Order: sequence, then C-alpha cells, then structure tokens
Amino acid sequence: MISVEEAQKLILENTKVLESVEVSLIEAERLVLAEDIISPLNLPYFTNSAMDGYAVKSRDTEEANESSPVSLKVIGVIRAGTYPNFAVGDKEAVKIMTGAPLPERADSVVMVEYTEGEGGIVRVKKAVTPSENVRYEGEEIKIGEIALEKGAELNPASIGFIAEFGIKKVRVYRKPRVALVVTGEEVIGLDEELKPGKIRDTNSITLSLVLSQEKVEFLFIGRARDELSDIEEKLKRGLGWCDVLIVTGGVSVGDYDYVKDALENLGVEGIFWRVAQRPGGPMFFGKCVDTLIFGLPGNPASALVCFYEYVRPSLLKMIGRKDVFLVEIEAILLGEIRKKLDGKTHFLRGHLEKRGDSYYVKSSGTQGSHILKSFALSNCLIIAPREVTLLPSGSRVKVYLLPR
Ligand code: AMP
Ligand code: MG
Repeated sequence: MISVEEAQKLILENTKVLESVEVSLIEAERLVLAEDIISPLNLPYFTNSAMDGYAVKSRDTEEANESSPVSLKVIGVIRAGTYPNFAVGDKEAVKIMTGAPLPERADSVVMVEYTEGEGGIVRVKKAVTPSENVRYEGEEIKIGEIALEKGAELNPASIGFIAEFGIKKVRVYRKPRVALVVTGEEVIGLDEELKPGKIRDTNSITLSLVLSQEKVEFLFIGRARDELSDIEEKLKRGLGWCDVLIVTGGVSVGDYDYVKDALENLGVEGIFWRVAQRPGGPMFFGKCVDTLIFGLPGNPASALVCFYEYVRPSLLKMIGRKDVFLVEIEAILLGEIRKKLDGKTHFLRGHLEKRGDSYYVKSSGTQGSHILKSFALSNCLIIAPREVTLLPSGSRVKVYLLPR
C-alpha cells in the first residue's frame, strides 16, 4: 500500500502531455497554448480617446479652471467607428466619443464632465496635460511582440485577446480521450426497474458529469457484468480508443473482482494497487502502451474522491496544465473529527463557508464510502492526515476545494 503523495507522483510521472493540434479559437478555451502567439498588429490599432469629451491641444487649456473656463471653437464630431480626415488647430476642439480615433494634432481629451458646450463653442473648465485620456496606438502591444507565450492557459479573456488580432485558429495540446467502463452484477441503469439486490449505477452518472467539467472527449463504453469475458471485452473496446480508461468496481479483493485479471490479460502493466487512504483505498493504476488505466473502487464516494485526487490531475497534465491539483486552503474546523490510527489519509466531505474574514468548514455528514448524501451537500474535502486521530473543533485544517 502506498501513500497518497506517492500515488500522485507515480501518476504524474506516467502522464505525458499530449501532442498539439490546431483548433478553432473558441474551442481553445481552458486548453493550453502549444505555440507563442505573436502580435500581427499594434494594439490599440489606432490612437483613440479613452473618454467621451473634447479632443484638444493641451496647451490651449493651461489656463482653464472652474471660475474662468477657456472657450474653444468646436470644429466637428468624431464618433466611434469613423475615421477623421481633419486636424485640430489652435484654440479648436473636436467633440469625440470613447474609442473614436484622435484627430491629428490633438494631444489630449477633456472629459465632457469638465465642459459646457453651446453654439459651436465649448467652455473647458479644467486643464488637461499632454496624453491625458488618450490611448496610444501600440501601447498595449506592438507588431511582432509575444502576446501570449507557449504554455499559457487560455481563459475567456485570453480568447478575446487573441480574437483582437483576427487569429481564428490556435495550436494547443489536444484533449484526452477518456473511456469509462462500469462493472458490477448489481448495477442497473436509470431506466431499468429496481429489484431487491440491485442498485442504480450512479458512477457512470457522477463520473461523466465530473468529466464534462474538464476538457476531454468522453465515451461511455457501458456496464459490464462481473464476468471476466464481459469485463475484458468492454475494457478492450476502451483501450482501442482512449488515452485514459476509467473502470469502476471489481478492483478489490472480493470473489468476483475480475478487473485486475482482465487488465492483466489485456497486457496492462500494473503500477500500483491500493493507496493508504479513505475512501478509495483499493484503487488500481496501470498503463498499456500510451493509455493510462484507473481502476476506481465501485463505491460512489470512493470513485469520486479518486477522480478528484488522481484522474483529474492526470487529465490536466495531459492538456499541458501546470497546476493540476485541487485548490488547497486552510479553514477553521467546526465540530471535532475523530479517526482511527490507521495510517491512512482521510478525505472527508465537508462544507466550507466564509464568515467575516475567515473560512470555516464542517463535515457535511456521515462519511461511509457508499454514501453520496454527504457528497451531495459538500463543496470541499477536509484532509485528515495519516498520523492524526483527532482534528479538534476550532483547529486549522487543510481543505481542498471541489471544482464547480
Ligand atoms: P466493488 O468496488 O465492485 O467491490 O463495489 C463496491 C461497492 O460499490 C458495492 O457496494 C457496489 O454495489 C457499489 N457500486 C459498484 N459499482 C457501482 C456503481 N456503478 N454505482 C453505484 N454503486 C456501485
Ligand atoms: Mg463489484
């Protein structure tokens, strides 16, 4: 049995960043750049006004103040989207809107709030300095400069930024293909009739949903009975297609737990089996050529915890992300948590709340690995370290935030 940290290390050591592909700009959101983006333009593209007001020569406003405004002759209006073909002369002003190109020879813009305009004259009540309220061509970025570096994680703002250049396709690390096989003689689909002895297959639901929050191509292969041949056949279908194969159930020590045998028959090399943790202890990790295999315990809470702690970091590394683990914060524990001295890391489903300046966390209910209720009420995992038997109420504990 290995520790959580060793398990995570082995998984990341065996996870490779996938090849790069060209995708449409919008598809690239939350993916990682596999190339530098070089600016083909100056941004701003043309010098323009940062305010609604009057474009002026700042020198003409030097004497202006509230009690003795300076009068300038208004020679035109420039709206956003147009381009002026005239210049501003001495003692002249041009009415201008935010984003509209600055006319030649103007060097500043007086905000409309500091003016009074009537009959072709504007009275300026405040002096402006050269460049005031002007956005200069190329001040954000110049032609040929690196706009975003290889390795940048693309968020909506990055996509908008790249769109400013008119770039429609970008090179990113491709999304992993993830296949899921669920095993268990007892598990039935949502549309099937529940009979004593059977339970609903919730793993295919929860796992496909957590996967839908990640950048992956997902394929649900199906439910296999606890029979070596059925499991083997379904796993084989997954292996033929995916970068990551997830299989739930059947990896423990029960009489009908055939998943490890099936994987071995298919040539999967086992890297570890069993992690010193609760829930999710009997987890299996292996690989077959370039495919990683995660054998998650069938209990719903175990499968989810293992997804967040092991599968998700691996998927994030594949797309080139650097921060792959759940965000960690410290919180004050409400109500004590006791645990056995079992040498295992416990991941407890918790609810985190901010009150004033501090974060408080409490257990969200009974913690059995078969129990989804407390997971349903949780927004974080509380970490009870291996060597600890008591987390006292009021103590500071480590908490992992669940993605939303
Ligand atoms: P196993 O890992 O196959 O020993 O299963 C452990 C527990 O998880 C058993 O109580 C199973 O009934 C339950 N279980 C297995 N697969 C699923 C599933 N897909 N959905 C919900 N519960 C499951
Ligand atoms: Mg089973």
